[in-house]
Amino acid sequence: MNIFNQVKHRVSIVKQIEKYIPLEYDGSTSYYKGLCTFCIPNDSKEVGIITINPEKGIYHCNKCFINGDTISFEAKKRGCSILDAAKVLYEEHGMNFKYVTWDY
Ligand SMILES: [Zn+2]
Repeated sequence: MNIFNQVKHRVSIVKQIEKYIPLEYDGSTSYYKGLCTFCIPNDSKEVGIITINPEKGIYHCNKCFINGDTISFEAKKRGCSILDAAKVLYEEHGMNFKYVTWDY
């Protein structure tokens, strides 16, 4: 398993995004929702809703249409590359980057 899959396997997308924005669980869909942190408020100060599908490990915003997975969310928040975000998450979750295998 490569670093990206290991991170996705180990890191909960809900817990990770919840570090940045408060989320609410929607029992009717089993998705989590929160105010988008990437939307730039317009004149009416509206921002979109980020919907997270924990089963698939993906999110998307209904307004700015940003979307992706745990690693891309972290990369966008940090303004770093996908690989750097994966490294950060990897180490934050107690995995040692020295032992990463690079099979693709
Ligand atoms: Zn948005």
